[in-house]
Amino acid sequence: MTTFAEELKTIEEKVKAHLSDGRFQHCLRVKDYAIKLAKENHLDEEQAALAGLVHDYAKERPAEDFLKVIDQFDLDPDLKNWNRSIWHGVVGAVMIREELGINDPAILDAVVNHTTGDGVAMSPLAKVVFMADYLETGRTFPGVEEARKITDQSLDAGVFYQLKHTLAFLADQGNPIYPKTVASYNEWARHFS
Ligand code: GDP
Ligand code: FE
Ligand code: FE
Ligand code: FE
Repeated sequence: MTTFAEELKTIEEKVKAHLSDGRFQHCLRVKDYAIKLAKENHLDEEQAALAGLVHDYAKERPAEDFLKVIDQFDLDPDLKNWNRSIWHGVVGAVMIREELGINDPAILDAVVNHTTGDGVAMSPLAKVVFMADYLETGRTFPGVEEARKITDQSLDAGVFYQLKHTLAFLADQGNPIYPKTVASYNEWARHFS
């Protein structure tokens, strides 16, 4: 019998081996913030911890690894027009399943959606990981304290806050915006209007 704490430690070692120290520490902080948000929202803390820990597992892989997985697992070929920012969630979830042996569909779904968010039907666990990634205690962007307060009051309001600000930031930088990010924003904007 392996306990959850033992499983988490094993996965933690594997995540650490694939990431720079800075990004590994970010993953640990996302894990902790995801546990906090799971508690506040009466969700499974173990799922939140594991999803937060692994969410950026694939972030430092070479492009060719992602391109190989897109072909091998018949993922949307349009993904090839994007980059690591988008790949590490959508394609990274496949690597997490194959390489870390995490099969829980709720955890994999949360990883898939952690960068782009998803529409109003987004799962509570996916909302928690999406917000923990944005709000973990190492984040220092202007407005982070306000974003933390809003999210403590309402996870949904936090999701919309992040989508609004990320979209505005990407557009301000003249960056291409992944269609799912726009679609997610539109659904939440209608929901809150
Ligand atoms: P991180 O992996 O912890 O750095 O955080 P995320 O996975 O949330 O985001 C990764 C990067 O993707 C960040 O620089 C975001 O600004 C960027 N990003 C988020 N959504 C989009 C999008 O729709 N299009 C593009 N091009 N970049 C995005
Ligand atoms: Fe990420
Ligand atoms: Fe994020
Ligand atoms: Fe992250």
